[in-house]
Amino acid sequence: MFRSHCVAAGTVLSIFLAACGTNGSSQSPVASGKGVITGCAFGADQNATFMGEQRFGSVPVAFASGQFASSEISAVTTQMDTWNAHYAAVYGFNAFNYGNSSNPNTAPAPVVSMLSNYNVLSPGETGWVSGQYYVIQKDGPGYQNSAWPYGQNVLALTTLAKVPLASGQSLQVIYNATTEINYHDFYAAGMPQANLAGTMLHEFGHLLGLGHPCEASSTVSGIPNCYESNISPDYLSAVMYPGVSLTNPVMALNTNDQSRANCLFSYLHN
Ligand SMILES: [Zn+2]
Repeated sequence: MFRSHCVAAGTVLSIFLAACGTNGSSQSPVASGKGVITGCAFGADQNATFMGEQRFGSVPVAFASGQFASSEISAVTTQMDTWNAHYAAVYGFNAFNYGNSSNPNTAPAPVVSMLSNYNVLSPGETGWVSGQYYVIQKDGPGYQNSAWPYGQNVLALTTLAKVPLASGQSLQVIYNATTEINYHDFYAAGMPQANLAGTMLHEFGHLLGLGHPCEASSTVSGIPNCYESNISPDYLSAVMYPGVSLTNPVMALNTNDQSRANCLFSYLHN
């Protein structure tokens, strides 16, 4: 039912880019005249890099009530707009609906362990829980937990609640989610200041159902190791690369991000 995915502070991306070669196995998605990748295409080594899929179009998004300054809200909604522009160009709808851009939706911060207790899905119901928001929340002292409950180098973590896989489906449908942002080890006063916009651009990819194109570990079954000498440079320059620079994150969806994202709404392209 649950899958958590996080983004760690990354410092090795530039080293990778200087050292890597190309991976000839990747398929070639199609770019439209405006440079938007429109095809659902990915190399065989990307088969296991999907965590789930959204259904029924725009995900209802809210900020945890009273937690975010207007500057933070602006930085985050801009990143939703990046994903929205992509899906609008490819499929004609926005990935996210955060409400009025000058006064976005707010909602109480959900307790992560309670997400599955929104067990209100009726048999056969396979989509986002009606009336529930995906809530972006801060975590750490003063917020839900007195300490950040995950690794101290983790900038943020998205937890997905998913419908059990039905026969004929290849991806579980996401019916609720939340992202916690590490306001204990980063962002908070006196701590390293990470780029919130870059962190959330990445987390929104997880919310949509994207996993990382590679992992910095050889122990993740079925997913390429980012440290392999022949790793595709497209995986290393992706927004969904597992490490995000604190100060200079990737802010544009690359070919890997776009072509995999196009595959997440299976009912649109099957
Ligand atoms: Zn991640």
